[in-house]
Amino acid sequence: MKKEFAVIGLGRFGGSIVRSLTEQGMEVMAIDINEDRVNEFASTATQAVIADTTDENVLKSLGIRNFDHVIVAIGDNIQSSILTTLILKELGVKHITVKAQNDYHEKVLRKIGADHVVHPERDMGRRIAHYIVSTNVLDYLELSEEYSIVEVMVNDLLAGYTLVELDIRAKYGLNIVAIKRGKEIIVSPLANAPLQLNDILIIIGADTDINRFEKKVLVE
Ligand code: ATP
Repeated sequence: MKKEFAVIGLGRFGGSIVRSLTEQGMEVMAIDINEDRVNEFASTATQAVIADTTDENVLKSLGIRNFDHVIVAIGDNIQSSILTTLILKELGVKHITVKAQNDYHEKVLRKIGADHVVHPERDMGRRIAHYIVSTNVLDYLELSEEYSIVEVMVNDLLAGYTLVELDIRAKYGLNIVAIKRGKEIIVSPLANAPLQLNDILIIIGADTDINRFEKKVLVE
């Protein structure tokens, strides 16, 4: 069965989620208090509805508790975002993802039981900071507040060495989970096979260890 999603708040963030979900063939109800915003999504979403989601009766009448996942993308109006999340939680929505504006907002959302809190501007900022500091870091994915996955391109300093010789696990506490070599993905890389220039290492570990590794091994 297809999953059903509802997206509340059709700003740039919420709007992009609606487009992306419909492109993936999902059923999406797009909701906003603003009629113009709703009209923009009339032909994209499965259903586009004008509603104030801080009103419990409105959410009930939309049958919101039957959706598999509700995304709250109300931006600047933190009060509406919190109230909407609280009502969704009370109505028993199975999975709620909310966009937070700042750390305090995030804290409250977690307290009232949002399943997943996203902070797109902050997270994207961190991600970009990682790959502008070093030309070898291609991507960065935060797993938790302390752990991440990074993609690092093998440069002259690393090429030709084996994983045993580099001993990244012992020296930095990091694990190389896979290597991308052209179109090939090597899932369990051999410890004694030499790395090739432009291989991409997919590394998992604590941020502090990743930072140490980046400083030591990578060029600016
Ligand atoms: P971005 O465009 O980058 O996502 P943003 O997160 O600040 O920025 P806004 O442009 O503020 O997003 O969009 C939030 C949307 O949420 C607006 O379209 C607004 O009309 C809608 N919204 C605000 N309050 C409510 C509410 N009570 N019920 C439904 N929708 C609401």
